[in-house]
Order: sequence, then structure tokens, then C-alpha cells
Amino acid sequence: MAVAVYPGSFDPVTYGHLDIIARASAIFDRLLVAVLENPSKTPLFSTQERLEMLAEACRPLPNVQCEAFSGLVVDYARSRGARVLVRGLRAVSDFEYEFVMATMNRHLNAEVDTVFIMTSSEYAFISSSLVKEVARFGGDVERWVPAGVARRLKERLAASGGRPQPWQGREAAP
Ligand code: ADP
Repeated sequence: MAVAVYPGSFDPVTYGHLDIIARASAIFDRLLVAVLENPSKTPLFSTQERLEMLAEACRPLPNVQCEAFSGLVVDYARSRGARVLVRGLRAVSDFEYEFVMATMNRHLNAEVDTVFIMTSSEYAFISSSLVKEVARFGGDVERWVPAGVARRLKERLAASGGRPQPWQGREAAP
């Protein structure tokens, strides 16, 4: 059984990510979409929120599962019996970073290969950061993210007066 891991921040998930997920789920028997808990990044949405948005969007795909992970992605892949990492490529500009990551991951575990899938051209310029930026200034993002994600973006950014505040702290507030 071919198991693949699609790791990322997914802060939040976009139709670009979902395009890659749909394509990868048609190639592999099982796809694990893995949300990175990265202490050095300050996401807009908590890990739990990012997972909820992903799980909702992936519901129609029965061989796709969404999980959180921390630490090295190759260690996570090994713990799940996966030998393939999936990454999306939008433009040449993605290549350099992805090349470095794939090379490092190969050094860390030569048994895990990275497979790149090209997105549909209509999503090739979409990124989570761009979507957050547009939403922050009141632009319509429903073409680029599922309706539930667009709603959460609006709520989160309205609550912060338009500034993209990280989730930390607010959940702990009374
Ligand atoms: P990371 O912080 O690991 O880059 P992202 O959530 O931004 O996490 O992206 C995860 C993966 O999805 C990366 O391989 C990225 O290139 C890819 N990706 C992001 N947006 C798109 C898109 N619009 N089309 C195709 N791939 C994408």
C-alpha cells in the first residue's frame, strides 16, 4: 500500500492545496495531510483550527486523513509507514526552497522520496499569505478558499481590527 504525506502549514488551506490533495489522493492509496506545529512560526490559525478546516474540505476524499505533527517530517513519515512526501509546485520561484528541503530530507532519510505535483494554472499564484493579505483589506477570497475558511478569515481579521493577529493568547482570554 503506497502511503504519502503532504506536509505544510495550511494557514489556512486554499484551493491550491486542495488541488494538490485531490491529485495526490488519486495517485496514492492513502494520503496523510500533515499540519506542521512549528514553534518558530506564528500562524493566524491554531493547529486545531487549521486541522478542522482541512478535515472539512477533505471529507469527500475517503483515503485522505488530516493530522498534526511536530519535529522532522521524515520521522513523522516513517512513523506512519510513508515513503513519499508530496509537495506542490506553483512556479519556478518555489523550486529553490523545495530543492533545498527535498535534499535535506533525503540526507535525513534516504528511503523517503519527495514527489512534486504541479497545481492547476488557475491556482498557481495563490498562497495562504496572499489570501490572508487580501482578506485583511476586505477583498473577496471565496474564489480561492472554501466558504468555511473565508468565513473564519473574516471573523478572525474583524476581531483584530484588520490586523492579522496570531491565534496565541486570544484563546486563553476569558
Ligand atoms: P509551507 O509553510 O510548508 O510552505 P504551505 O501550507 O504554504 O506550507 O504549503 C504547503 C505545500 O503546498 C508546499 O509544497 C507549497 O508549495 C504547496 N502550495 C501552496 N499553495 C499552493 C498552490 N496554490 N498550488 C500548489 N501548491 C501549493
